[in-house]
Amino acid sequence: MTADEAARETTTDVLVVGSGPGGALLAHLLAEAGVDVLLAEKQTTLERSFRGETIAARSVLTLRDLGFEPALREHGFVEMTGIGQWERGRRVMHIDYRRFPIGAVPVDIPQPALIGAFLDAASARPNFTHLAPATLTDLVEEDGRVRGAVLRTGGGRVRVTARLVVGADGRFSKARRLSGLAADIQPMERDFLWFKLPRPDDWGHDGDLVALRDRHLVILPAFPDLLRVGYNLPKRGLADARSQGLEAFKAGITEVAPRLGPLVEEHITSWKDTSFLEIFTARMPVWSRDGLLLVGDASHTCTPILGQGVNLALQDAVYFAPAITRALDEHPGTLPAGVFAEVEAERRAHKDMVTRFQRFQERALAQSTAAGALMRRTRLRAIDRLPFKYRLLDRVLNAPHEMTTKDRHARA
Ligand SMILES: Cc1cc2nc3c(=O)[nH]c(=O)nc-3n(C[C@H](O)[C@H](O)[C@H](O)COP(=O)(O)OP(=O)(O)OC[C@H]3O[C@@H](n4cnc5c(N)ncnc54)[C@H](O)[C@@H]3O)c2cc1C
Repeated sequence: MTADEAARETTTDVLVVGSGPGGALLAHLLAEAGVDVLLAEKQTTLERSFRGETIAARSVLTLRDLGFEPALREHGFVEMTGIGQWERGRRVMHIDYRRFPIGAVPVDIPQPALIGAFLDAASARPNFTHLAPATLTDLVEEDGRVRGAVLRTGGGRVRVTARLVVGADGRFSKARRLSGLAADIQPMERDFLWFKLPRPDDWGHDGDLVALRDRHLVILPAFPDLLRVGYNLPKRGLADARSQGLEAFKAGITEVAPRLGPLVEEHITSWKDTSFLEIFTARMPVWSRDGLLLVGDASHTCTPILGQGVNLALQDAVYFAPAITRALDEHPGTLPAGVFAEVEAERRAHKDMVTRFQRFQERALAQSTAAGALMRRTRLRAIDRLPFKYRLLDRVLNAPHEMTTKDRHARA
């Protein structure tokens, strides 16, 4: 439906705000379970600003299990074979994704393809409505409960009455701010600039993390024949980088990863070829109130390290969908926050583990002295030789591990 067709007042069981990977999949799973669901998205197209494209192996399996593999194959994606950490021209650690027992490897696929697959599937259901553009501006509250929300649409304001409002509106979540729920927002020491380059034929499908003291580059194979590169900057260092000029920026990249030099020289011609990402983590002790739930980046924002953001958002959708469906059956009216406590705890455990690992990794990468960098290299080489390396990393990279059952629940 277009915004113009929207009534000024409308009612639904669940209003999902934000059609990123988390919100779009959740809306689809709810619609599939027969729930009346309205998905509100402020953007009119599926093109998002430069976003996460890596889907971790666990979510690759989940999507396979949910029947999305044919749609994703039809679009195409890049399978990642592994990731290596490089220092001073040498590989100090390597993870071969094919050696994990999980039976899938991470893939790179642009978000529009992923979200499009969810929306196509949901659109087949009469109980699913997608409203765009529709921006959350206010929550409707009564007696301390959230009863719905106000959306700004192309056709004016729409007041939506819902038994549950789900904030899936990302890292700068308006739903989170309006909810009044406490969030512990911690800036990381550094920010990131992202850009894409053509991938040379002989590059392979491994990702690389290349470190030079406290500077590093993340270089990932991207669909269809690209490299997605992230370059760390000092906190709020974008203005400084710009004032030093594009040539200095390109020289800095070449110094860290000489192999990228000719590509950067040819293909980065203006700052418009780059995207800035402010890195912070957001942790909330509570993700729900009566009538409101936060999922994905809105409830817990991670850093880009390990490419887990999309995985976490998709797993939130898969875990919460059956809990919401059950709660709608069991509770009349507004859903009480308590019904999500168990799932919230499971999801928080996963997200906290990822954040702990990311902070550990960020501290290691931020070593600015030669001694600190030497210690980092020594530690990584030691981890690389551990006989149980794959068992250890499997716990972090391929979580959550109880997914098979959850998937079945989600499909029930
Ligand atoms: C540059 C960059 C690189 C990244 N790289 C990776 C990676 O390689 N791998 C990875 O896993 N993760 C990565 N991430 C993180 C990943 O993109 C997110 O973790 C993931 O998209 C979170 O999904 P989500 O559904 O929770 O929220 P989002 O994907 O942020 O979706 C939120 C949606 O809500 C909409 N919205 C926002 N406000 C409103 C409002 N008021 N009303 C209505 N709609 C609203 C937005 O338009 C958006 O569509 C990256 C992020 C960035 C920015």
